[in-house]
Amino acid sequence: MDKIKITNLEIFARHGVMPEETALGQKFIISAELSLSTEKAGHSDRLDDSINYASVCESIATYNKTNTKKLIEAAAEGTAEHILLSFPQVRGIRVEIKKPNPPIHLHFDSVAVEIERSWHRAFVAFGSNIGDRKRYIDTAIEKIRSDPKCRIKKVSSIIETEPYGEVEQNNFLNGVLELETIYSPHSLLSFLHKLESEAGRERKIHWGPRTLDLDILFYDNVISDDPVLTLPHPDMENRNFTVLPMCELAPDFIHPVLGVKMKALKSNI
Ligand code: ADP
Ligand code: MG
Repeated sequence: MDKIKITNLEIFARHGVMPEETALGQKFIISAELSLSTEKAGHSDRLDDSINYASVCESIATYNKTNTKKLIEAAAEGTAEHILLSFPQVRGIRVEIKKPNPPIHLHFDSVAVEIERSWHRAFVAFGSNIGDRKRYIDTAIEKIRSDPKCRIKKVSSIIETEPYGEVEQNNFLNGVLELETIYSPHSLLSFLHKLESEAGRERKIHWGPRTLDLDILFYDNVISDDPVLTLPHPDMENRNFTVLPMCELAPDFIHPVLGVKMKALKSNI
């Protein structure tokens, strides 16, 4: 991806753990590398087709002057998030925040933190089989939509399916949504768990009835065997309530472990 690079922007801010740092303030030097496509602007030669790097610099400076953090880690995190949310064309950002004169008694040039953050593509499966199932699902979708860290791209049709596993229970309403998010995989899972608990979800029986179930099917092409967050979602390829909505949303999406397209999984189920 193309880059716009801002190097050594000097600002005066009050980040720091020491009381004198917050009271007096000090110089910080910020560099940012923005990932975006510059091709359109490259051909049109119009500023409207790119981002205005003067506005990005202003935005970085204002953010750091008005959001004082103890740690430059937090300042970098906040800066990255702020730019990703404020400039829709920016797909990713690398931010370095440097403190050239940290208040310690040893001599060294500077201390800096550098992080990289970006938008990611995820598919989230939703399901409900207790109470007003449609309302639980609609409420969750609205809450996801109103979180600035998520941009819903598509929502599949909702289908009614028989329960999976041994437990005797009502039919489910199921579907999948595609989103772009700046949450990390684990932060996205925590956010979804919060929505489940707000829907009164209780975890009593594995594969038991639930007001709301939100599972991450895919997060980019990430593969992980972490039991807290297994990616892709285990067994998704054997369940009609995940495969069918995925075929509607992204039939050509390739399962990163199986190496086959969603539409080829239809014959599995
Ligand atoms: P299930 O969705 O399998 O019916 P639960 O919703 O009760 O069951 O989830 C049980 C646990 O599965 C969660 O607490 C979560 O940590 C873990 N988990 C592992 N991988 C994923 C994933 N990709 N999406 C959602 N939860 C996951
Ligand atoms: Mg779940």
